[in-house]
Amino acid sequence: MSYFTFRGETLHAEDVAVSDIAAEHGTPCYIYSRAALEASFLAYGDALAGTDHLVCYAVKANSSLAVLDVLARLGAGFDIVSGGELERVLAAGGDPAKVVFSGVSKTADEMARALDLGIHCFNLESEGELEALNCVAAEKACVAPVSIRVNPDVDAKTHPYISTGLKENKFGLAIDEALAVYQRAAQMNHVEVVGLDCHIGSQLTDITPFIDTLHRLLELVDRLADIGITIKHLDLGGGLGVTYRDEQPPSVADYMDEVRRVLGDRPLKLLFEPGRSIAANAGILVMRTEYLKSTADHHFAIVDAAMNDMLRPALYQAWMDIQPVQRRSGGHLTTWDIVGPVCETGDFLGKGRELSLSQGDLLAMFGAGAYGFVMSSNYNSRPRAAEVMVDGTAVHLVRRRETLEDLLRGETTLTES
Ligand SMILES: *Cc1c(COP(=O)(O)O)cnc(C)c1O
Repeated sequence: MSYFTFRGETLHAEDVAVSDIAAEHGTPCYIYSRAALEASFLAYGDALAGTDHLVCYAVKANSSLAVLDVLARLGAGFDIVSGGELERVLAAGGDPAKVVFSGVSKTADEMARALDLGIHCFNLESEGELEALNCVAAEKACVAPVSIRVNPDVDAKTHPYISTGLKENKFGLAIDEALAVYQRAAQMNHVEVVGLDCHIGSQLTDITPFIDTLHRLLELVDRLADIGITIKHLDLGGGLGVTYRDEQPPSVADYMDEVRRVLGDRPLKLLFEPGRSIAANAGILVMRTEYLKSTADHHFAIVDAAMNDMLRPALYQAWMDIQPVQRRSGGHLTTWDIVGPVCETGDFLGKGRELSLSQGDLLAMFGAGAYGFVMSSNYNSRPRAAEVMVDGTAVHLVRRRETLEDLLRGETTLTES
């Protein structure tokens, strides 16, 4: 079900006309739906009912405080990849005891803060990280809960930039290396082995790579048990795909049913780290058409959003659906390249779109709730967009648009004369 739907000819976010939000808060503007976030998060809990589990939303997909707040109220755990994300989770009211800390390179300061807060688990990616964490925990005379991220060498069959489970990737440790690192961990006084984790990639539209991975992880759990190391939880990462165009990813329910079937009655707690599948279709990016420009063989619709606001088309050649906020019946269709004002040929949001467009029209990009605002920058000295959360008929401005003053904050010219 979508929470961004046309009522008559007018696009709504839940019960609010998108054009009303644009009139009040300007463009470009990200709009999130609280109900959509809740529904996609709760789908995991429903599918895992009766199984010991923790769903840790991957903060990097969309780290707005309001998004984290909505999920924290539902009892979500959080998967973080930096100390900054940890502070966001705290500021939004998230429970640190439900935080897992991922990422290839956690600093000693980040480890110390996470230990003080008593996070659920450190997902370690190298022996170096394990040694460092043991030292930090020793200084605090405490014991750090750890899991090792394994790289199962499974092809997630997704875009190379978002595929992370092949042996040539920088992420995780090969299964045999992991075994040795687990043995090392078991000898340490200030870490406790609690889990085993992986994350093989993003935007997966097939269950098979997940299940192949699960089988490989279970083999490792058994090998570890043989040498006296008990794994209490299995963290299968995130990665479930969403529909941007015509992809048909498995439902959360189908994926979880298959996982539970393979797991059988093993006494393992299940963790997941979904990001995209929770946030992507809970957000749109609204923009206004500034100019229409035609060259010998192209029609360009130049909009006020750009690659600095939404990087996915430029970075991943991602196809994102773009539709007028106000549908016009019987309009003349033209094939448009929808581009931003940034001085880069790679600055496009959509190519070859058949639309009936006039200067000043509002457009909405769908599926923009994940890996959208979080990847935005100030390139070309463009202030970042406003973010709004809709909840039924209520509209909350959850991040005001940046000002030109914000752009210069923290900078100085040379002070010498
Ligand atoms: C990015 C990431 C996720 C979330 O991936 P999605 O494809 O957005 O679900 C989960 N875990 C780790 C370690 C990640 O790096």
